[in-house]
Amino acid sequence: MIKPTHIEHIGIAVSNLQEAIRYYEEVLGLECYAIEEVADQKVRTAFFKIGDTKIELLESTDPEGPIGKFIEKKGPGIHHIAFAVDNVDNALKEAESKGIQLIDKQGRKGAENLNIGFLHPKSTFGVLTELCSK
Ligand code: ZN
Repeated sequence: MIKPTHIEHIGIAVSNLQEAIRYYEEVLGLECYAIEEVADQKVRTAFFKIGDTKIELLESTDPEGPIGKFIEKKGPGIHHIAFAVDNVDNALKEAESKGIQLIDKQGRKGAENLNIGFLHPKSTFGVLTELCSK
């Protein structure tokens, strides 16, 4: 079993990063501690800490990218949930051995220098699931 240690972050697709940041800072009172562009995923991300978990806001930098397409299809909202695991590559193998469809066969570099890999929502009851480790 994968046995994640905690929810690392929740990924939320937004149309306008600055407006969304204002809500998280001025209404919720969380502090945006990092803004980072992840070029190969065609997103700009903003991070907030809340306990051991983070909120990851995702703004598309390209309408053809994954977040651009998601927003066009479904509108802004929760995009994925990310579980912290000890080792992404092992966790992906474990999931595959149990018949889960993978998006990533192997871990790759994500935001914040984490090693990440995605499970396909078809296999995870509609929730795009990210696994990540340091
Ligand atoms: Zn994520």
